[in-house]
Amino acid sequence: MGFLSRFVPLLGSALRSGRATVKRMTPLIIIYGSTGTGKSDLAVELATRYNGEIINADAMQLYKGLPIITNKLTTQEQRGVPHHLLGSIELGEDPWVVTQFKKEATKMISEIRGRGKLPIVVGGTSYYLDGLLFEGRVVDNQPALEGGASNRDELAAKHPILTDTPEAMLAKLREVDPVMADKWHPNDARKIRTSLEIYFATGRRASDIYAEQRSKKESKWASESRARDHDLGEILLFWLYAQREVLNERLDKRVDRMVQNGLLRETAEVYDYLRQRLAAGETVDRSKGIWQSIGFRQFEPYLTAERETPDSPGLDKLKLAGIEDTKSATRQYAKYQVRWMTMKTISSLQEEKLLDRLYLLDSSDIQRWNAEVLDKGVELTRQFLAREPLPPATGMSEMAREVLAGTVERSNRQDTPCRKTCEVCKKTLLTEELWQAHVTSRKHLKVVRAAKKRQLIPAHAVPSRALVAATPVCAVPEDTAPTINHL
Ligand SMILES: [Zn+2]
Repeated sequence: MGFLSRFVPLLGSALRSGRATVKRMTPLIIIYGSTGTGKSDLAVELATRYNGEIINADAMQLYKGLPIITNKLTTQEQRGVPHHLLGSIELGEDPWVVTQFKKEATKMISEIRGRGKLPIVVGGTSYYLDGLLFEGRVVDNQPALEGGASNRDELAAKHPILTDTPEAMLAKLREVDPVMADKWHPNDARKIRTSLEIYFATGRRASDIYAEQRSKKESKWASESRARDHDLGEILLFWLYAQREVLNERLDKRVDRMVQNGLLRETAEVYDYLRQRLAAGETVDRSKGIWQSIGFRQFEPYLTAERETPDSPGLDKLKLAGIEDTKSATRQYAKYQVRWMTMKTISSLQEEKLLDRLYLLDSSDIQRWNAEVLDKGVELTRQFLAREPLPPATGMSEMAREVLAGTVERSNRQDTPCRKTCEVCKKTLLTEELWQAHVTSRKHLKVVRAAKKRQLIPAHAVPSRALVAATPVCAVPEDTAPTINHL
């Protein structure tokens, strides 16, 4: 008998009706958090205490090898806890798309449960976790195209517009599905193409399919009194969060440590492998997979120089630049992960009525990690598994109150999608909030100052802060994946 048998309570209704039906609890723990917050450590601690097994949801850790680049726990740090979906694909393989991750992870969850153990999903790749949790609500807010790559090629052969310029594709989309066309940024070729593909493949508008899914889901929730029943079982979510400046400093130190531990050796391994494949005449799509991993691209100029001009006096400089670039890419990635959480995941959790199961644990102070993250995580998990009432998430710490309350308030605001173009920067923004962020950004103000100096634009043409403050704010997040996005 697994440990879960200790946590199988009788349902109230079963007691009242006098029947001895017992509902087995199917708990699932999911750990969100940016890189450097100690997610993997918490997962191992929970697994050792509650008989768990861990499922990796970090796209880069899906790759075999490269323990330093991908920040994998060592065997010793795994402390005998089974880890799944870790090192599952070869270096040259394409990364898993969301649907594939969801399929594999769901299968793994049920296998772990079959062994009477507790599944713990821990991840850095936000859209993997979101994909797993929010079924039917694919990351881009548009339905996925069935059949994957081969289907795509077939479609493109039939509809040459799919390989045309973003402008041409957008014009076509505006014709067939204006709602979707309005959603996407004119430069976002990938999303525009997907909307078109869906139209060509199904003969239906992506916007209609999405609207249908939404209303189905809403009526499903309305008809269920226990809205918290998720297809995956009963869910407890942790969000490991660290104050940005503290985290940045920690990440910088980690990169230094990675370099000491042989980051460059691993990077060279990836680099030589890439060279080999190119030399063999293979085409390599470098826009995704391991080629996009932080720590590889940043050292490429150095590695190229090292192989081509090994005696060059500039080598050290290139190496230092690689280290600095890796640091800044890591910081940006952490920022992107937090932004995804606050802009996307939290509103999805709200829609799914799961928000009160999300616990932010403050990992800012490493000295207090045990008290703030470990002890609180362990106690919450105990209460959750014992079906005791859980405390309010905002009461867990000052940080939890501050961050959660602020985020929820933002995502509760009315959506006011709007499309505005900054003529000075030639940039199109899709929501009021992003517009506001843009016109108050340092970059915009700098461009404006420079333009004013050259007297290229009259003062009245520049959106002022006062004007911005008077405009209503909306919270529709644009998918602003920076270039350091892992996939
Ligand atoms: Zn601007």
